Amino acid sequence: MKAPARKAGTRKDFLVFGSPLISEAEIQEVVKTLRSGWIGTGPKVKRFEDLVLAYKGSKHAVAVSSGSAALHLALMALELKPGDEVITTPMTFCATLNAILHAGAKPVLADCDRTTLNIDPAAIERKITRKTRAILPVHFAGRPCDMDELMSIARRRKLAVVEDCAHAIETEYHGRKAGTFGDFGALSFYVTKNITTAEGGMIITDDGGNADKIKMLALHGMSKDAWRRFSDKFHKHYAVIYAGFKYNMTDIQASLGIHQIRRIDRYWLRRQRLWRFYDEALGGLPCTLPAPPEKATRHGYHLYTVLADTDRLGMTRDQVLRKLSEHKIGTGVHYRALHLEPYYRKVLGHKPGDFPNAEYISERTFTLPLSAKLSDQDAYDVVTAARAVLRR
Ligand SMILES: *Cc1c(COP(=O)(O)O)cnc(C)c1O
Repeated sequence: MKAPARKAGTRKDFLVFGSPLISEAEIQEVVKTLRSGWIGTGPKVKRFEDLVLAYKGSKHAVAVSSGSAALHLALMALELKPGDEVITTPMTFCATLNAILHAGAKPVLADCDRTTLNIDPAAIERKITRKTRAILPVHFAGRPCDMDELMSIARRRKLAVVEDCAHAIETEYHGRKAGTFGDFGALSFYVTKNITTAEGGMIITDDGGNADKIKMLALHGMSKDAWRRFSDKFHKHYAVIYAGFKYNMTDIQASLGIHQIRRIDRYWLRRQRLWRFYDEALGGLPCTLPAPPEKATRHGYHLYTVLADTDRLGMTRDQVLRKLSEHKIGTGVHYRALHLEPYYRKVLGHKPGDFPNAEYISERTFTLPLSAKLSDQDAYDVVTAARAVLRR
């Protein structure tokens, strides 16, 4: 980090949280696609799938319209029945729970760990019943879940595993890429994610049968050839095999993806640099910084989440956020505990106290900007503001 630290409160423009780094290559690619006469699902989507496959080392990939669609279709492929249970964490984005509900099953929550923020395998074990069909771990902030323990539980209890890799494209655990442990990995290329197609997602799997099925489900449930029908010279009939969805990715989106994926490690290195700078510069403040990455893992460095020591600060988390925004620093909250959201309270019957660790995090957590787009000056401004706000 080379820029000089400016005085607190002197930043002029607002630092937008999660603003993506888009280069001229993406812009030119989108323009080329627009001029090509083919902007729908086509060759660029296929190329993007192949590039992600090469990066992740799995056998099959299906690009879809969002990470939420990826989760939904992975769960649909499991053919869950009403009453079937899927275990996941209350410390995630609502899309994770909604996907389980839309796939016709019941989300069962298991508390997370206060340090790793990831689902606690011991808590999973306590929640397994005769109706449990799958575990849906979220590699929170890019930190891998305890996959040895988790896969051992899944094998022993014959449960499917769908990994929510929305934060974790680059994440590795004991030499293996996140998303390749379970039956499916679901990726997101939403604007704020590590690489982006504006909106987009992908399912990765080693099972060819499931990949074919997901591909059909993503396009109305029409037979496989439907994906190619517009590029064929002659009309080809399709057959409708399932009541599917409209979840296909377009070549406009893939135009961003094929360039972003090539830069994935460069972006990762930049975020790692920012992460270490924050670690050094924010130590000693009345807050808990993210736990250091574990041995033999690769952290995805997606979210730099800080837990405010609200007691020592005499301030709520929301007051901290307001003050940071007065310093023109945009922040995020990942996340408020899901079981306390009105809808899940109602349908799952939860109440305060059900998941103490998730609630502890929920009340204290805030996320500092960590995009590869951040300049050294931006990073200094974040640190200067955080120090001014969190000083007691
Ligand atoms: C972003 C996100 C999703 C959903 O991805 P979209 O592409 O926005 O639909 C799912 N799970 C988690 C943990 C996420 O952060």
